[in-house]
Amino acid sequence: MTIEIDVLTLFPGMLAGPLDESIPGRAVARGLVTLRVHDLRAWGIGRHRSVDDAPYGGGAGMVLRPEPVGDALDALRRPGTTVLLMDPAGEPFRQATARELAGLEHLVLVCPRYEGVDERVRSLVDREISIGDYVLSGGELAAMVVIDAVIRLVPGVIEEASTIEESHAAGLLEYPQYTRPAVYRGMGVPSILTSGDHGAVARWRHAEAVRRTLHRRPDLLAGRELTADERRVIEEERDARRSEGDLA
Ligand code: SAM
Repeated sequence: MTIEIDVLTLFPGMLAGPLDESIPGRAVARGLVTLRVHDLRAWGIGRHRSVDDAPYGGGAGMVLRPEPVGDALDALRRPGTTVLLMDPAGEPFRQATARELAGLEHLVLVCPRYEGVDERVRSLVDREISIGDYVLSGGELAAMVVIDAVIRLVPGVIEEASTIEESHAAGLLEYPQYTRPAVYRGMGVPSILTSGDHGAVARWRHAEAVRRTLHRRPDLLAGRELTADERRVIEEERDARRSEGDLA
């Protein structure tokens, strides 16, 4: 399975470096991903290829006009295309969103600048995506975040096992990872990891993932249907905290 991704931007050069390297770069080189970056000015208006104008009603900054985006989407859209608008008011981008998008055949990502886009552009796109509750100068960094997260989930791009156990894949943060040396600045490695008992290692990792999620992101556990093992780990943690409280 492969995926095609088109990006519409006023700054095509911004995407070249990060997406040429490492996992995305290799995925493109191996033909698993086709990535095309388009200069939105190619669909600009008039001799100056203008793409923006002052907001109706007054106010600071410029607004991206709808015609360049509309014409570009007319040129790129085909059956099976999903158009994503990068926007701070969009749906929060999560690992589940990335997984969903990785299963699609053709994505077009629209990267506005300035004060954002003319409101009528929203009717031309399929989804609006926000990468977090902060404001970037433009949609390019947001698009790169989405593209990177999506590409690594396209089948064949990386080992599937890596994407199943990592943070957020199953609603938990990842368990702690260790590699050599066995002792670093006086800190050792949990002995279970060198025991050779694969079942025990898997149980320990799952319990650690639950513990870490409980301590750092309890909100992730709120919507989760807990297994008996997970409930037990959480109870043990709460008991431990209570007795720490008793000692304090
Ligand atoms: N005036 C807009 C607002 O208040 O929502 C912010 C415009 S921002 C300066 C310019 C562009 O950067 C946005 O149109 C969007 O494409 C992109 N952008 C900024 N923050 C983003 C975020 N958190 N997620 C996705 N895109 C973002």
